[in-house]
Amino acid sequence: MARRAKNRCEYCGLSQIGQAATFHVDHVLPQSAGGETLMENLALACIHCSLRKGARVQARDPQTGRSVRLFHPREDSWNQHFRWMAFRLKGITAIGRATIDALSVNSSEHLIIRGFEKKLRRHPPTGHL
Ligand SMILES: [Zn+2]
Repeated sequence: MARRAKNRCEYCGLSQIGQAATFHVDHVLPQSAGGETLMENLALACIHCSLRKGARVQARDPQTGRSVRLFHPREDSWNQHFRWMAFRLKGITAIGRATIDALSVNSSEHLIIRGFEKKLRRHPPTGHL
């Protein structure tokens, strides 16, 4: 599964390499909502994204205020919902914006880590997801 994700968080793109904490295996549809432990429902998630996502499946699009579903790494195309703007991830759809906001993907910690990743040529992710 880590290979499928190219060893990166499938929400924020953070590389597992260089991170002390082992990334979580996220149930995209939470087990509490009937999500099964099958490859098509699992995603690699960094601790930050995993803890913020928890059992959530929806969030508010900060631009429209409407509640939309979160990004689904197995069913959605990452590039259709997100774009890198230097160290910041930009949502280009309601789903992208809501996911970034809910998971706090542009936290100061993420921006600092992306700065280091850039120096190591690991940011932006190439051929991401
Ligand atoms: Zn993440």
